[in-house]
Amino acid sequence: MIHHHWLRKLGIAGGYVIEAVPPDELQDFVFRLALRGFVGANVTIPHKERVLKLSKPDARARAVGAANTLWFADGELCSTNTDVEGFLNNLDACAPGWDRVEEVLVLGAGGAARAVVFGLLERGIKRVHLANRTAARAEALADQFGDKVLPLAWEAFGDLLPRVKLLVNTTSLGMHGQETLDIDVGKLPLDAVVSDLVYVPLKTALLAAAKARGLKTADGLGMLLHQAVRGFELWFGQRPKVTAELRALVEADLTGA
Ligand code: NAP
Repeated sequence: MIHHHWLRKLGIAGGYVIEAVPPDELQDFVFRLALRGFVGANVTIPHKERVLKLSKPDARARAVGAANTLWFADGELCSTNTDVEGFLNNLDACAPGWDRVEEVLVLGAGGAARAVVFGLLERGIKRVHLANRTAARAEALADQFGDKVLPLAWEAFGDLLPRVKLLVNTTSLGMHGQETLDIDVGKLPLDAVVSDLVYVPLKTALLAAAKARGLKTADGLGMLLHQAVRGFELWFGQRPKVTAELRALVEADLTGA
């Protein structure tokens, strides 16, 4: 829906189709992309790590350890991870100046957290506190990204909230069918920004509580739309815009309105 909207708006004759590719057919799928007339692809679970070996990954894909976008440059199949800029550009749009903060708290240490942490460091954030239910995963991520990433116990993140100017939820807590994230946003400073990657539901309990306190928020749908911009640009050569019109279309689809 997102890419068809942009193709229509920009008058480009192209398409975007969905294909289910079993793991044992991934290599064949990737090698035959160009032959079948494709200019690139998005890939999702469970192929995001394996495509790194089947393509030329850029610095972001290598650092995150996963790619979600493939495209051809001078006939060579390249890969990148657009979640990094989706996260950053969405924050820029929702809370300009957010990156002047010193201390950030990231909850979660899964695939999405790797993209978020890499993006925060790329923007020059000095201290990224990282809390995860499974402490070993937060420690492994901190080991990889260096001493600006500070792992802390999941039970201890509440004590940090009064110092945190940007809180990012990258866990699946708050998603439909999952437990809610137990956090007291009343402890955050009044100029804090809250970002939630979860987009089903669109307005998570975390975002609702942050808004009720008057904090700036950046939601998961905004990140999803912003991450799609780069793929479109790489495939079709024009940089599309995330507009209110596009957001309303996708929101209506997600909520069945
Ligand atoms: P993942 O790799 O499976 O990681 C899940 C994370 O959630 C882990 O840190 C896990 O902790 C934590 N978690 C799960 N259940 C928990 C619980 N009951 N209590 C505490 N922590 C719990 O998943 P992911 O790919 O990073 O995705 C995470 C979320 O981000 C999903 O909701 C996904 O839809 C969303 N996402 C959104 C976008 C976007 O564009 N908006 C992009 C990517 C991802 P453990 O390590 O302890 O298991």
